[in-house]
Amino acid sequence: MKENNNLALRYCPHCGKAYRDVPALSRADNKTLICPDCGTREALESIGVKEAEQEKILATIHHAMEG
Ligand SMILES: [Zn+2]
Repeated sequence: MKENNNLALRYCPHCGKAYRDVPALSRADNKTLICPDCGTREALESIGVKEAEQEKILATIHHAMEG
C-alpha cells in the first residue's frame, strides 16, 4: 500500500502560490503542474468563462471547502 498523504510543498508557476494539494496538469502544454485553482481557471477558460466569473466560482469553491 502506498501512502500519499505527505505531499511536498509545491509552487505554482502560474500564480506563484505555494500549495500542498494534488497538482493539476496544465492544459496549455500537458506537462506543467499547476495548483488546483489554476487548473480550475484553465478548465473554466476552456468552456468560455470570463476571468471575473472564474474568480467568483473559485471563491464559491473555497467557501464550500472551508465550510
Ligand atoms: Zn496557481
